[in-house]
Parts: sequence; C-alpha cells; structure tokens
Amino acid sequence: MTSIKESKELSNKICPSCGGDSFENVGGYCGTASPFNNIDSKLVECSSCSLVHMNPLPTDVEIDNFYENYWDEETSVQSTNSNSLIGYKAQNNSRIDFLLEQNISLDNKTVLDFGAGQGFFEEAIRKRDVKNCNYSAVEADLEMVETLKSRGIDVAPKIDTFDGKQFDVVVLFHVLEHLLDPNKVIEMLMKYVKPGGHLIIEVPNKDYVWKKNYQPHVVFFSEKSIASLFKKFSLGNLTILSCGRSLDILAKEKSFMKMQRHRVGKVLRSLGLKKNKAETGAVISEEFAHNKFEMDKYGNERQWLRVVAQKELN
Ligand SMILES: [Zn+2]
Repeated sequence: MTSIKESKELSNKICPSCGGDSFENVGGYCGTASPFNNIDSKLVECSSCSLVHMNPLPTDVEIDNFYENYWDEETSVQSTNSNSLIGYKAQNNSRIDFLLEQNISLDNKTVLDFGAGQGFFEEAIRKRDVKNCNYSAVEADLEMVETLKSRGIDVAPKIDTFDGKQFDVVVLFHVLEHLLDPNKVIEMLMKYVKPGGHLIIEVPNKDYVWKKNYQPHVVFFSEKSIASLFKKFSLGNLTILSCGRSLDILAKEKSFMKMQRHRVGKVLRSLGLKKNKAETGAVISEEFAHNKFEMDKYGNERQWLRVVAQKELN
C-alpha cells in the first residue's frame, strides 16, 4: 500500500486500473460521511480504460477509519432492515444460478469467499442441492468473524491464514469497488485459485448513474473498464455479463426521485398518507425480490456486473 502522501498525490494523476494519466470530469462525488463528503471531490473517467474513479481518492488511513464502523447500525451502508436482508439472500441465490449457467457447479468444490459479510453466500450454498462443497471465508470485521464461526464456518479475518491453499472457486462479491488498488487485489486472489479454477466477481455497473449516494465506493466499473482490468492477467477464459434491472430505468428513477422527493413527500406527509419506513410492516419474499430486481435478466447495461475469470492451466 502507498503512504498517505503518495496516495493523495497519485490519486490526482494516475488511473487506479491502467495507470493512465488523462481524465475527463464526469461530475461531483456524492457522499455523506467522512472521507466521502468532501464537496470538492470529483468523479473522473480514464481516457484509456474508461474506469471512473473518485478524485482525489481517500487515503488508506481514511478508508480504514471508515470501515472500523462499517457494520455499526448507525453508519452502515449495508442495510439491516428485513426486506434488504431478503434482497441480499435472493441475490446470493441468483449467483448460484449464474454459476450453474456458466457450467460451474459447486458440487465437490472448495470455495473461498473473500469479504463474506453476513455469510449469505454460504447460506445460499447450504440451502441449494450442492453436494460436498467445502466453504471457507475471509471477513475483516472481527464481530462478524465470531458470528460466522458460531455457524460452524471456517473463517479468518485475514487471507494469509489460507496461504499455501488453492481453491476451485474464489468469490469476491461487491468488494472490488471499495478498494484503492484493484490490480493488486486480483493478483493476490489469483494466487488462491487452482490452475483451471475460477475467480468470480460481482460489482455494481456504473452505480454513480443510478445511486444518489456513492459512498463508500471509490471506483465505478463498466463492462469496458472491468474487461480492461482483467485483460492484464493471463486467463484461460473471461466472461463478463451485466445482470439485474436496466441502467436506463434506474437512471430515470433517480432523476424522477430527485425532482419529486421533496414535493410529493411533503404533500403525502401533510395528508398523513406517507409512512416512515419503520412503519411499513409488509415483509417481501425472496421470490418477490428476485423478480423485482430482475436477478435472472442479463445483457444490455444492467445494474450489476458478474465476472467469471478462469485461471490458466499450468
Ligand atoms: Zn485507466
């Protein structure tokens, strides 16, 4: 990792993916908590690989401080309300379908889940008809590690616990967009993939287009920029598909919401028709979440990017 000073200086000049030094301004960076709430922070697009990133990037120390409290209810961007949890479960279930469609069965496989969070992927594996899958996890949050251990999961806070081991499948779901050096992360994870095995990654697709708050993401991938990132590694195969709701519709909803949020919200509240989130009792089903978020729809610029990178055979 670079020092604070180096990181600040480099972030203004060098693309975190390709090292290019020519950028176009895409707009302001929208965040609410430090270090993501500096009104001078911009989003820039690299002219070479088209990766969009926050500029200037936060430092390693600023990012570490932010994540110390990542799972606290007050500051967490990972929602803990029940409908969001059901959404995450449906999303993890759809990842197993995706792998099967890519001819990757988890039967008799070893899996390493880097950034396992609440362990929803393990839960999805367990609930499906997967036979003899040997699952391990890396999760930096120590409280979460204890929770996962109590469920009997082989989990460690640091990946070097698994040094010397290689897995059939290594997964990284919604982690890469949080990190300052995507090349280093891919290179490091590839060491834990068996020759001919797979690294599976999911990231949001251009989420600055459809989110109001971008934090704590520092890089924003597109099909083009993530392909450019992976092409630097010698791979057997590379598949990139976008999945979920259409970006066009999500972007329209964002601008519509911006226009309407205050006006309509105030009117409804004054009529006593708008309830706070906590008051809405209906709990959705996983099937409802799956359909609403179009988790089985692929292609033509959708909400998430799913990447299958096969490591070369020796
Ligand atoms: Zn670049």
